[in-house]
Amino acid sequence: MFSAQCQTDAVTKIEVSNPATGAIVGHVDNSSLEDCLTAVDRAHDAFITWRRVLPRQRAEMLRRAYDLMMAEQKALATLIVQENGKVLSDAMAEVAYAAEFFRWFSEEAVRIDGDLRHAPNGDYWFAVTREPVGVSLLITPWNFPAAMATRKIGPALAAGCTVVLKAATETPLTALAIADVLARAGVPDGVVNVVTPDPPGEAVAAMLAGGKVRKLSFTGSTRVGALLLAQAADRVINCSMELGGNAPFIVCDDADVDAAVDGAMLAKMRNGGAACTAANRFYVHEKVAGEFVDKFTARMSSLVLGDGLTDGVTLGPLVSRAQHQRVVGVVQQAIAEGAVVQCGGKAADDGSFGYHATVLTNVSPTATILKDEVFGPVAPIVVVDDIERSMELFNGVEHGLVSYLYTGDTARGLRLAGQLETGMVGLNRGLVSDPAAPFGGVKASGLGREGAHEGLLAFLETKYVATQW
Ligand code: NAD
Repeated sequence: MFSAQCQTDAVTKIEVSNPATGAIVGHVDNSSLEDCLTAVDRAHDAFITWRRVLPRQRAEMLRRAYDLMMAEQKALATLIVQENGKVLSDAMAEVAYAAEFFRWFSEEAVRIDGDLRHAPNGDYWFAVTREPVGVSLLITPWNFPAAMATRKIGPALAAGCTVVLKAATETPLTALAIADVLARAGVPDGVVNVVTPDPPGEAVAAMLAGGKVRKLSFTGSTRVGALLLAQAADRVINCSMELGGNAPFIVCDDADVDAAVDGAMLAKMRNGGAACTAANRFYVHEKVAGEFVDKFTARMSSLVLGDGLTDGVTLGPLVSRAQHQRVVGVVQQAIAEGAVVQCGGKAADDGSFGYHATVLTNVSPTATILKDEVFGPVAPIVVVDDIERSMELFNGVEHGLVSYLYTGDTARGLRLAGQLETGMVGLNRGLVSDPAAPFGGVKASGLGREGAHEGLLAFLETKYVATQW
């Protein structure tokens, strides 16, 4: 069914299992190094013709892929729940978000612009055009297996690039299902290729070293992103990096506390806390801290942990044993450093990778839990007595993806937003992700932007022709 997966001599299989139940969901080929290099060759051959396909035709294929994904939303969402563990409502929202990248970039495909400029000496003209960068290696994580793929494939195909998608080992089935959607939407053979090498290091290094890959677009941890940037440097490959986050969620003394609690639930618990945009550090002004903690704890306690496909379940398990152990360890350390558990603070007792929604108070501004992303359903709260004078706390981390800020004074909010060292700010909003907005971070959170017109430009090179007539 999923013909996009290149296979020459695959000898081993990757077993995909459901993190809620342990049930086997399916198997995919463990792509060999040769399979991966063959996928690059196919993308390289297909690029010659794909770049010449009319923008209108590329747009229509992407638009058909959007329609197919929305028509098959429930089936795709069910697959995501089975291999990732998130709850069905989150998975339905992810499919809609993922499909929207195809619709947005179907519209962008016919907006690849250029311009004509005067040379300053008036003697000649600059004819400025844009061309597809070429074969693009896309590497995606497990936490949004559909959306992280379409956020890259959409603009790449719109720009005229061909791709090799290295899907996350934990969630390859969704990636293959998306490649299948694109094939049914009319995208020719060789334009989208999916590989699943496990472990991925050697195969990715070989693809980058081979000389045919001209673009690397990576979403994942800062550690792996930095490693790949170094590998890409050898051939000066064009890189886009969407890396880790460590978002502060700031509640000012003049905030609407109910709105802040709604926003906190969204910013913290979307995807069970396994999002790069997840609120990771809560800083609440002492004037509203009591009310915020009570209301937020009540909402967090009401979440029902279990299998994401079961009715009434509102929090799924973590994706793997490794993630589960990490979250258990992070909370234990926070408690050892003095944090007080308001709710949760414990793992599920059914043998799954579940962890209860957790609120921690009495967290010191220097606590270890605030230094790195938890990537799970845990909310540590620090009480502060002056928001404006706490800017160093908010900015004093390595990452800079997103901040959330709640205040009743928009002018104050915009002023503070200007001082936050992040690529995105949610001002009185707990959700910033939108295919039409430029998504991305500063500092160790990455390079470049995805979505919006910027997402298209990431797959285009600017060329100028010095022109005289
Ligand atoms: P990860 O870095 O471990 O893996 C990401 C991808 O890289 C996977 O496909 C993985 O198989 C591959 N990979 C791992 N080691 C590799 C190597 N040595 N060479 C080549 N490829 C390799 O990240 P993860 O655990 O899958 O995802 C979670 C991370 O992703 C978090 O840090 C999260 O913040 C980040 N993330 C960022 C964004 C964003 O847009 N900024 C979005 C989602 C997730």
